[in-house]
Amino acid sequence: MPDRAPQPVDRQLPTDEARDLISLVRDIAQHEIAPKAAEEEDAGRFPREVFALLSDSGLLGLPYDAEYGGGEQPYEVYLQVLEELAAARLTVGLGVSVHTLASYALAAFGTKEQQVEHLPSMLGGGLLGAYCLSEPASGSDAASLRTKAVRDGDDWVITGTKAWITHGGIADFYTVMARTGEEGPRGITAFLVPGDAEGLSAAVPEKKMGLKGSPTAQVHLDGVRVPDSRRLGEEGQGFAIALSALDSGRLGIAACAIGVAQAALDEAVAYATERRQFGRPIADFQGLRFMLADMATQIEAGRALYLAAARLRDAGRPFAKQAAMAKLHCTDTAMRVTTDAVQILGGYGYTVDFPAERYMREAKVLQIVEGTNQIQRMVIARHLAGPEAR
Ligand SMILES: Cc1cc2nc3c(=O)[nH]c(=O)nc-3n(C[C@H](O)[C@H](O)[C@H](O)COP(=O)(O)OP(=O)(O)OC[C@H]3O[C@@H](n4cnc5c(N)ncnc54)[C@H](O)[C@@H]3O)c2cc1C
Repeated sequence: MPDRAPQPVDRQLPTDEARDLISLVRDIAQHEIAPKAAEEEDAGRFPREVFALLSDSGLLGLPYDAEYGGGEQPYEVYLQVLEELAAARLTVGLGVSVHTLASYALAAFGTKEQQVEHLPSMLGGGLLGAYCLSEPASGSDAASLRTKAVRDGDDWVITGTKAWITHGGIADFYTVMARTGEEGPRGITAFLVPGDAEGLSAAVPEKKMGLKGSPTAQVHLDGVRVPDSRRLGEEGQGFAIALSALDSGRLGIAACAIGVAQAALDEAVAYATERRQFGRPIADFQGLRFMLADMATQIEAGRALYLAAARLRDAGRPFAKQAAMAKLHCTDTAMRVTTDAVQILGGYGYTVDFPAERYMREAKVLQIVEGTNQIQRMVIARHLAGPEAR
């Protein structure tokens, strides 16, 4: 049986610069991220030093303007970077995706003054961001959020509790959606809140099934005072900003999902070519060969789907429907592929001695975050058939 050690994904990249970028990311992933992934996930340790390295390497602001310290890369390149990072460790890939999401409101809707003041430190100055939309009583129905921001002179005073916040308690800045007006989506405004603001605190992180290195915590805002200069966009525009951020963020989740799925497939192929039963490598049995073929095909289809959506975005065309489709398809693919990888490893797949079980636990969360896959289907159907009947 010839050696079938996994080869790096053969990527279609638009420029030499993008090819160099992927080489750099693979180097960091292989030497700085993957070796500690299993141990640190088990211990629930967040690799802050990896994020410092990514920031120093220009990898924390890839899709944003060079004028403010961003990498000015098209989404099709940025997403493939995320895929490589997530394959090495989801906590890192997803963390970069959430940081990019948290920076979006300012980058896309901030004033020139706000961008000059804050963006360089967010995109390449070592800061880490968090995105605060969900609350204990409002997840899928995010427009019913209750956190309030009340005007007081030149300031806003924000009070409420945000839930499930990735990087909650360790972030340097929080993009917070709060109610400033009427009930529903039109009464919401976005704010940029510094991590050390008085009155901001985080609860003990949730104890999760997977993604344990990435802290997810409630964030309490107890009369947090921010100047009006930290309001992002217009009063009442916050929900539209939040949804616009999520269209792009969902592509990040799709890319992370394909990274996790690819890592699981690589492990399954390596194991199946090594492990012998009935006097032959188990990869010789058609039952497993067909499973591997299906896994690889679903991954390629997922990659093609998220890249197609990214290329629409890069061309300035509408991409919300395709982003929802990519998130739905890629995360369902990750769940199926990682489950099959555990099966291919047999009993060993069910132990923590191999990463397949971790990939399976990580895939699950991707079907939930940034809009569950039920919500993605609602978004897609709305594009096809208009709003739901009430
Ligand atoms: C690890 C992790 C990290 C997260 N990070 C962040 C973050 O950084 N920032 C942030 O703001 N949020 C974050 N979230 C929150 C996440 O976005 C929500 O969990 C998600 O949107 C679902 O909300 P919920 O958990 O309240 O579930 P619910 O909305 O209560 O949904 C429960 C179930 O009902 C289904 N459902 C709800 N409404 C409908 C409907 N109309 N039709 C069909 N089915 C429906 C859902 O699909 C789900 O299966 C994170 C969550 C996790 C687990």
